Amino acid sequence: MTSASPDRPSQRPYPTCREVLDFLMSYLDEELSPDQRHEFDRHLAVCPSCVNYLESYKTAVRLGKAVMVDPEQAAEEVVPESLLRAIREARTK
Ligand SMILES: [Zn+2]
Repeated sequence: MTSASPDRPSQRPYPTCREVLDFLMSYLDEELSPDQRHEFDRHLAVCPSCVNYLESYKTAVRLGKAVMVDPEQAAEEVVPESLLRAIREARTK
């Protein structure tokens, strides 16, 4: 009987992409605990695809927020009232 253990360092294993993506919303809202955030950053350091995903997600969120600032007003500035009315009527059909 040997005490040889599989190479399992005392450190925790890297979080998987799935775990990282579960954290994503909290990460963007900066609601992660320092520990979780550390795990998140650890994964990003070794996973370019998650970095890319995070970047595109951030961009989407930023664009989404820009659009959501005041959609009514923004729409009325560029769309004539008659067209807006036509769109509303079309939706109810
Ligand atoms: Zn990943």
